[in-house]
Order: sequence, then structure tokens, then C-alpha cells
Amino acid sequence: MLQRRYNMMIAGIEDAPIYDGRGKGVDVYVCDYCGARIYTRYKDKGVTPFVMRCRKCEHGSSMHQSTIDEETAASKGFEVLNWIRPTFEQFCAAGEALRGHVLEGGLVLEGES
Ligand SMILES: [Zn+2]
Repeated sequence: MLQRRYNMMIAGIEDAPIYDGRGKGVDVYVCDYCGARIYTRYKDKGVTPFVMRCRKCEHGSSMHQSTIDEETAASKGFEVLNWIRPTFEQFCAAGEALRGHVLEGGLVLEGES
């Protein structure tokens, strides 16, 4: 059952009418509480949050503020995290809320699933 739903999502995602951020640069998220920045890029096509809990202070909301190009991020030495689609094994190990997100095409930050 889960395998079938996961496979259906995979089969449809390339043609899904959603934004495809791959190759479109590095997204900058800024925390509204501590000002910490995180940099992300799309490795897979899928849905990413506009706002997430700040990874640094774990208190504020980290909001998408701008998008810069890969060259700029590299020249400044920013560490860029990848948005990826969890494998089926990672998906199975996830909680129910995260599974729902993934079945709707949602991505997770690499190393956090
Ligand atoms: Zn913060």
C-alpha cells in the first residue's frame, strides 16, 4: 500500500504542475529571530517549505528571502544543503506527517530524514 502510493508519486512528479527549482540557484533562508542564514538547493523536483523552524536557535522561523546563483554561493564559501526526495526506506522510517509531505511531492533536507 505505502509502496504503491510512493511509486505513484515518483511516477508522476516529473510531469506534475509544480515549480521545478533544479538548476535555479541557491535559496537563502533567514531566521526572523537570530538572523541565521541557511542556503539550500534543489537536487530533486519537489515541494519545499517557504518557512521552517530555524536550525540554529530552534526558536525563530527561517523564511525564504532570496535566491542567489551557485557561483556567488561558492565564491563566498557558503555551505549549501540539498533538498532531496527520501528513498522508500527513509520514507517508511519517517513519521506520519513527514510521509504525508513526501507523498505530496515534498522534499527534505539531506541528512535530516
Ligand atoms: Zn534562529
